[in-house]
Amino acid sequence: MASVLIITHLLCALHLGNAKHPEKPERLSVITTRLEQMQHLSWQGATEINIEHLYRAHDKQFVDNLLSKEMIQETEYIDADTFISQGSILAAKLASGALIQAVDEVMENKFKHVFCAIRPPGHHATYDQAMGFCLFNNIAIGALYAKEKYKLNRIAIIDFDVHHGNGTEDILKRHEGFLYISSHGSPLYPGTGLSSSDDNIFNVPMLSRTGSHEFKRIYTEQILPKLLNFNPELIFISAGFDAHEKDPLGNLRLRANDYQWITEQIVDVAEATCNGKIISTLEGGYDLEALANSVEAHVMGLQKDM
Ligand SMILES: [Zn+2]
Repeated sequence: MASVLIITHLLCALHLGNAKHPEKPERLSVITTRLEQMQHLSWQGATEINIEHLYRAHDKQFVDNLLSKEMIQETEYIDADTFISQGSILAAKLASGALIQAVDEVMENKFKHVFCAIRPPGHHATYDQAMGFCLFNNIAIGALYAKEKYKLNRIAIIDFDVHHGNGTEDILKRHEGFLYISSHGSPLYPGTGLSSSDDNIFNVPMLSRTGSHEFKRIYTEQILPKLLNFNPELIFISAGFDAHEKDPLGNLRLRANDYQWITEQIVDVAEATCNGKIISTLEGGYDLEALANSVEAHVMGLQKDM
């Protein structure tokens, strides 16, 4: 178990949207190009999800309606910034399928850490609504599968994307056995996560222009102790990199090496609680160079204990 597993899908040129949309195929190509230059990584292609796993997280009618659009030819907008184009539903089935694979790899002790380099992202997709570039909520689908298949009682999801993962909160607060922690810029899309709605939800809004120093203080004093105290059996990371100072959609001021720092902190908690089991999945990050640098830093963080 000497390497980090990267799961990705090759159909990144599908799910196109229009050329100006920030959630574009090049995001995955810059990430995979950068990671291919790193040592000690293993690679797997994502496989399509068995649709029964989607129903665990989402409303059946919502799932069936999206799946019925698999063969559409023209781009269709669900809201002002969330689209379905040719190949989008296939891409979404591969993206959520990657999380199922990742759970099996980690829970069967084949890999300690997995990073899913996938799109579309998922953390804004609610129980019955696609939004914020997200179709299916990949991480909630993975977390619910892990709970049922491996009979886990305490699963933590930590979300450092600059946006609040309203969809993940909406889905997981309906279930026992999860702790969802989100740090996010505020005010910012989607405008939620200003307080913590439930015992198993911990939202930490950060003021615009918050930088490394304050970010690290908040994590050290509030978030990491909460995560450690929960004593998780498995940790998921919604790894969005749009809190980077160069990101066109974010309002925070992180740098790439902050992602290595936070990842190493989470690795330490994972080592102390759950034999290091971490499944990380790509959410946002829209400046291509900052995204590649940040993902590299994140994966280096995952290699801390290897
Ligand atoms: Zn985001």
